[in-house]
This record gives sequence, C-alpha cells and structure tokens, in this order.
Amino acid sequence: MAILTLSELLSHPPQGPHSTNKGPKESPARTLHPILDNTMANNSSSHSSLNRRQVAQALNIPPEMAARNGIPSRMSASEVAALDANPPAWLAQSRANATGKRPIWVDLRCYLCDFLEVARPKKWWPEFTYVICDFHENSELPDPKAGWRRSEYDGVGSRFRGIVDSQDD
Ligand SMILES: [Zn+2]
Repeated sequence: MAILTLSELLSHPPQGPHSTNKGPKESPARTLHPILDNTMANNSSSHSSLNRRQVAQALNIPPEMAARNGIPSRMSASEVAALDANPPAWLAQSRANATGKRPIWVDLRCYLCDFLEVARPKKWWPEFTYVICDFHENSELPDPKAGWRRSEYDGVGSRFRGIVDSQDD
C-alpha cells in the first residue's frame, strides 16, 4: 500500500467553506448511494441531515472509519455530497483499498413483504435466491425447481434469512 506524502495529502484538502461556489454547477460523475439521492431529492430545499450511519452508507465506509476520521454525528446531505465528490485522503485511500473486497453495505429486501434493511455483511454470503424476514414461513415462497435443493442461511442482517436454491451436481 502506498503511503501518501504530505504534498499529496495537502492536494486533497477537506472541502472548504467557499469552494462549492466556484465555477458553474456540474453534476457529479458518480452516482451517489440511494440514501443520499433520496434525502436530497425529498429535502433539497431544507436542511436535511444524515446520522453517522447514513453518512457511512452514503460514502460506503464502515461507521467506525467515519467516527475515526472525524465525521460528526450529523451532517447535512449537501456536506456529505461534497465529501463524496471531493474525498479527503483517508476516504480516497479507503476506496482504493476496497476494490474487489466484500461489500461494506448490502441492501436486504424481503421477497415477501418488501421490508428493506441496509446491513453490513459479517462474512461472505452466497448469492441468495430469496431474502425473507425471519418470521415468514418458507412455504410462503415459490417451490424450488424440480430437482433443486433449498438451503437456508440464518443471521442475515438483523431479521432476515437467506434462501439458496441450488442444483446438485
Ligand atoms: Zn418480510
């Protein structure tokens, strides 16, 4: 891993108070996390704010990293967008290191009732055929295809289990 030199660190300063007003407004090249998009779309004229967990989701970093690097307990959506568009060195480094590793956040959506949770996988999960809340019965799901085997993974998010239909070799 490359160590950033001081000059490299200084070339990526945190967003200053006046820097957002420079030049014509451009749309960011990257697509922001849906949480940020939704927050900004729904509350673009008000002072919508995100808590630290939501900020971490929007930036796709673990909450501990956000806390360690001085992310406050609440930030406005526009501040988070500025951070996302002009990441400070620690954030840029984290993104560079994260390439190809397991996702930090995953969207879990119940197949049966549409309940959504954004969770941090503690381990690799297989590609689930279905994700459902713990309190549904498997019988509420479509039957597996003929000859396919169904297996379950407990402890997915806070209230889900994952269902994998697979074909025996
Ligand atoms: Zn459900």
